[in-house]
Amino acid sequence: MSALTALNAEVVACRRCPRLVEWRERVAREKRAAFRDQDYWGKPMQGFGDPGARILVLGLAPAAHGGNRTGRIFTGDRSGDFLFASMHRLGLANQAESVSRDDGLALRGAYVVAAVRCAPPANKPTPEERENCAPWLEQEVSLLRDLHVVVCLGGFAWESALRLRAMLDGDAIPRPRPRFGHAAELEGVPWTLLGCFHPSQQNTFTGRLTPGMMDAVFARAVELAR
Ligand code: SF4
Repeated sequence: MSALTALNAEVVACRRCPRLVEWRERVAREKRAAFRDQDYWGKPMQGFGDPGARILVLGLAPAAHGGNRTGRIFTGDRSGDFLFASMHRLGLANQAESVSRDDGLALRGAYVVAAVRCAPPANKPTPEERENCAPWLEQEVSLLRDLHVVVCLGGFAWESALRLRAMLDGDAIPRPRPRFGHAAELEGVPWTLLGCFHPSQQNTFTGRLTPGMMDAVFARAVELAR
């Protein structure tokens, strides 16, 4: 068994955050009407992708009826459709669709993970829940030895990556604190951070984030990863 597989077996059994455990399991029991015939995953989300990845995509947390239903991060919801379509255009995914764990999606040179691995109410984890989940992120990222760049989907992921990088590097977070923004770039070790607006419907339906904007961030990530 690979180290990543062994780690993920531990992750899916985690019950460290009582509020999130209660929510993820309640959503899985009650279900959305459109999915009432499906078995929801209802557990923490493991990372997904290429173990030799040079690009890490860091999200916020799984969606209640997306990843929490299908059991794979950014799978079965519109945010995932937007994300993987962009990764496909940039050659980081073999297909644009992400609908279920057995849909054949494979990533090339990229790995996707969430800063908080259980679906939170209203898509809003607390800072304490982020801290609870940070050790899982640290362990998983430490096993991705070829990483060059972390694409942070939104300010919450940016903050998580800043903290993780400071911990791995044994250094403090720079002051003034580097601010998140779309296409923001922060060089450093062990990897560069790139900011990207989260592909939530709130951003994509309003045009705050367009396909071209996300493609530009991934194009830069590919360039940095070379
Ligand atoms: S959010 Fe993370 S730490 Fe909290 S229960 Fe889920 S996997 Fe465990």
